[in-house]
Amino acid sequence: MRLALQTIYRQGPTSRAEIARETRLAKATVSDLVGLLLDQGLVVELGTGVSAGGKPPTLVSLAPRSRSIVALDMSAVPFTGAIADLQGEIEDRAEGSGQPMGEEAVEEVGRLAERLVGQATSDVIGVGVATPGLVDPGGTVRSAAHLDWDEVPLARLLRARIGVPVHVANDSHVAALAEYSHEFPEGESLVLVRVGEGVGAGIVLDGRLYRGPGSGAGEIGHVVVDEDGLPCWCGRNGCLETVVAIGALLANASAVLGRPASVDDLALPAAEGIVSAAGHSLGAALAHVVATLDVRHVALAGPVRAAGEPFRAAVAETIKERVLPTMSAHVDVRWAALDADLVLAGASAMVLAAELGVVWR
Ligand SMILES: [Zn+2]
Repeated sequence: MRLALQTIYRQGPTSRAEIARETRLAKATVSDLVGLLLDQGLVVELGTGVSAGGKPPTLVSLAPRSRSIVALDMSAVPFTGAIADLQGEIEDRAEGSGQPMGEEAVEEVGRLAERLVGQATSDVIGVGVATPGLVDPGGTVRSAAHLDWDEVPLARLLRARIGVPVHVANDSHVAALAEYSHEFPEGESLVLVRVGEGVGAGIVLDGRLYRGPGSGAGEIGHVVVDEDGLPCWCGRNGCLETVVAIGALLANASAVLGRPASVDDLALPAAEGIVSAAGHSLGAALAHVVATLDVRHVALAGPVRAAGEPFRAAVAETIKERVLPTMSAHVDVRWAALDADLVLAGASAMVLAAELGVVWR
């Protein structure tokens, strides 16, 4: 049934015969499967399509509003959440409050999830939670320093509280998945880097999210780039975060402007040198990733977008200068197409893939 649903999802309105061709299933089997999907309300019959000779076929299509997905973004302050339909369209939103940590953060995300599940106008197939930190495949947050979490079995706790399936993953990982699904052809590779309070990346290799054995793939924020650099909260000096994260950019911009700088100030001509230098540092770190994995697409996201073209250009130039010329010719560094809702989109895509077996496209 997942195969039939996948085909309908990918093709848009389509006929039973077309599904049979795509899936190589027998026509009678496809008719039965589509019948089950119709019974469940996941698909609807639309009208008739163009005949290839003989009786015109009845088209079936996904019913996007037949189910809901609840998505939560714990990388935002305060936490944000949304109810999305099966095509990722956001129908409703909610926000938490403050910047909770520890037990209180668990309570807060539980409250938010409960509220959104209650507000959904159709059955909720699952809750997707994107959180900072290292998350194991079972949904336990192994560590998340910004939340003061160690070994928090978040998926299990939320499931017990809300009673619907819960999926938890790293925020940058799901963001990469969302951008890939939305923007890139199947089988492509992509590194998506989010620069905000921290710096984190998600890596999609040959069409699959690469998590790594410790679920820490893409944790480039604490690679030391300047041994004599500023102290980092992780205990080291000169981590990439201390050079590139928004806090570092604002501190440097404040010094140049002679007043406290805001994120919007990063677009001022006076801040261009700071922004370019940070882009250069990020590009130097990413050159290793691009060369090691032969990834051609780099997408940048997060509040650093306010720094604009000088930042993107510095990242792109530095990568291109530092990898083999034959590779640099193919490197494409762009801003993520999905921006504000990138993490929420990823959290809902994760639920869709896990619960219905369909890749959001
Ligand atoms: Zn660090």
